[in-house]
Amino acid sequence: MTEAMTGRTHLLVSTGLTLSLLQLAGQGVSLPAAGVAVVSSLLPDIDEPNSLLLQKTMPKPLLLKLKLLFAAAGAGFILYSYLQSFYTPYSYAAGALLIMMCLVNQRLFRQLLMMLLGGVLLCLGASAGPWLGTAGALLMVCAVLPHRGLTHSVYGVLIWGGLLYYASLKLGVSLWMAGSVSYALHLLCDALTKQGIHPLPPWKWKLAIPLMSTGKFSGFLVESVCITVTFVLLWQTFVVPMGTATVGLWEQVKNVWAQF
Ligand SMILES: [Zn+2]
Repeated sequence: MTEAMTGRTHLLVSTGLTLSLLQLAGQGVSLPAAGVAVVSSLLPDIDEPNSLLLQKTMPKPLLLKLKLLFAAAGAGFILYSYLQSFYTPYSYAAGALLIMMCLVNQRLFRQLLMMLLGGVLLCLGASAGPWLGTAGALLMVCAVLPHRGLTHSVYGVLIWGGLLYYASLKLGVSLWMAGSVSYALHLLCDALTKQGIHPLPPWKWKLAIPLMSTGKFSGFLVESVCITVTFVLLWQTFVVPMGTATVGLWEQVKNVWAQF
């Protein structure tokens, strides 16, 4: 039993506030930035036991079939790689990962995946610069830390922001601001619950402003207030300026009309 805001509230509040803040800061809002804001608003909860969308939206028998399909695909891929020398040995690892995804439980798989990704970053870090290696090392630490560990900490924001900053440099689109702000807002919202967050583990300091409990009226109230504030800010940021533009336009039309 965890005390947390619903994914829907996280999605609305984090994304809405992020887009408003970007606009107010003069950064403007692009489609990729909005997409990154949406993903980042939900990303911290990836280490919750049932966070994977698949498990929530799919009936069990279908999920089992899907797992078998993935396992078969993994085995087939390895065989194909062996016969065609297709990017070996990396393809073996990818195939093994696919099979593993079906055999081990979600949490263990996630840890393995994070360890692997961390290891790859660590290797790349040797040639691409020190911070990539740092992110890799942190990711590996993150993998073995207990549940709701690093994702809900300052390190999580830094790792995600760092990865996005690197991606931004490569893509030439500024994504890191949208991502890290949205991610950080998710953590702030979680700080409003009784469970709170531990911003700087292993330091035991807990950030909790216990305004709400999920499923209780206080939870409903706090979530409603957060969503309302988000909509008001969105309205003020995006709709009101558009309104003055239309009024301006209307005045111009009237002036033109008056000249006839
Ligand atoms: Zn959370």
